[in-house]
Amino acid sequence: SLGVRDVHLAFGENRVLRGVDLDVARGGTACVIGPSGSGKSTLLRTINRLIEPDRGDVLLDGRSVLRDDPDALRQRVGMVFQQFNLFPHMTVLRNITLALRRLKKLSEDEAVQVARAQLELVGLADKTDARPAHLSGGQQQRVAIARALALQPQVMLFDEATSALDPELVKGVLGVMADLSAAGMTMVVVTHEMGFAREVADTVAFMDRGVVLEAGEPAAIFESPEHPRLRRFLSQVL
Ligand code: ATP
Ligand code: MG
Repeated sequence: SLGVRDVHLAFGENRVLRGVDLDVARGGTACVIGPSGSGKSTLLRTINRLIEPDRGDVLLDGRSVLRDDPDALRQRVGMVFQQFNLFPHMTVLRNITLALRRLKKLSEDEAVQVARAQLELVGLADKTDARPAHLSGGQQQRVAIARALALQPQVMLFDEATSALDPELVKGVLGVMADLSAAGMTMVVVTHEMGFAREVADTVAFMDRGVVLEAGEPAAIFESPEHPRLRRFLSQVL
């Protein structure tokens, strides 16, 4: 399970996170929605310690991650970004084996085996030797997902993973994410895809101005939102 407890973070005078709480059960999927600038990306970045919170705690299976070695933590918490962040000069296969060799200390043969298996799972077994530039955005994003999954994380974080994609490519990536959720991965998904949130999430959390203003099951959030700000947000995006 993942627990975010009263996390605060300021960039100078800008108090971006002002006491965030979030709970995701083991195997659960939480979708985080909310307006631009509300702190969604910053929240994800504090969970895998790309940024250190000023106050509060992040718990993985009840244990604070803030004391973990950041490299070890990033094996346990995978992250996928809006921009795929693949290494352009490396093949798809090499993009995945690199971290396996460096972080997991696998041999070349072992790393290749794991990478091939992950690429198969995201439907890209035939692209191992391609360079990222020769793939569609959707394919590149699936490589990025395969790369994160290859490290066998306990939790996966997605930050608007489909926002940079052409509309016709969005479905394939959301499908991979839905499959992963159904397979029991614990996930936090920042998304503008309200259909995905409604169908896949166990919990939907609405962030506004640095706090989770309202959280609950998708039906409750979408059918009977309580907070006026959430109602206004939904009326703009649905
Ligand atoms: P969006 O939906 O547009 O992606 P968001 O909810 O992800 O928005 P964040 O990226 O978390 O919002 O940003 C929240 C606030 O923190 C913004 O005011 C932003 O300018 C500020 N911010 C984010 N990262 C930094 C940084 N590294 N340094 C200074 N300010 C930052
Ligand atoms: Mg963001």
